[in-house]
Amino acid sequence: MEKEVIYKSFDEVLRAFLDKDDRMHRHGRDNDWWYASSLGTCKRQHYMRRMGLEKSNKKQFRIRFVGKDGTAGHEWRETAAKSMGVVVGAEERLVDEKVRYKGRYDLLINLHNKLVLLDIKTQRPEAFFYRSRKAPGEKVPEFQKLQLASYIYFARRKYPDLKEGRIYYVDRGGGCREEFIFNFDDKMFKKVLDELNYLNTCWEKKLIPPALEKKDWKCRFCDFKDACKEVDKNKLNFNKTLQTYGKQIK
Ligand code: SF4
Repeated sequence: MEKEVIYKSFDEVLRAFLDKDDRMHRHGRDNDWWYASSLGTCKRQHYMRRMGLEKSNKKQFRIRFVGKDGTAGHEWRETAAKSMGVVVGAEERLVDEKVRYKGRYDLLINLHNKLVLLDIKTQRPEAFFYRSRKAPGEKVPEFQKLQLASYIYFARRKYPDLKEGRIYYVDRGGGCREEFIFNFDDKMFKKVLDELNYLNTCWEKKLIPPALEKKDWKCRFCDFKDACKEVDKNKLNFNKTLQTYGKQIK
């Protein structure tokens, strides 16, 4: 007998795939690091991720579809760069055991005989529009610069000639692009290390960092918003938070 198929629509197939994909990554993921992709954002959220707490709310499918389309957008650009012979490295994992840092940059390419580390950001048309209308010095958010600086700082151990970083924005709906060039100084690299050192000190002392002073829209979408609220309301310490919100081993 043929295998029974339970899906009634193509969208249902894709949603089931995303759930399956999540389960696979969830089990394979080693959380015990500070991730480049969370630098410069809420330190408490970053910290709670490393604690391995259960997520408060499942991400809407709409957001997960956007994430997958973003990844697909990266893939063809990487293929194009490879085909044009400019790629030196791609999706390379950067690890520093001492400060517990893990990051994975998008592309390391050769432009005009110079090494350039490239971070590709695909954006919704509205997000691209509002960001690109900002004043010249404000078009790239600080946290994205910090993340890029972290890639460069740790990648330079292997590629000492690497100095330049770029953020390449793509408007997913309208096809517009913008490319920003950065040559960071030591002050920026110090910011990266200061943040990692701060997180590590909190970790050693089992102190949960404070919540954002001004709660904003990011809190609405935060994976740990329930735990965050309870920590402040009921003065939960590290162990109690882990007991209450830690992942149940299934
Ligand atoms: S709810 Fe807001 S303040 Fe709390 S951890 Fe999440 S992002 Fe940070």
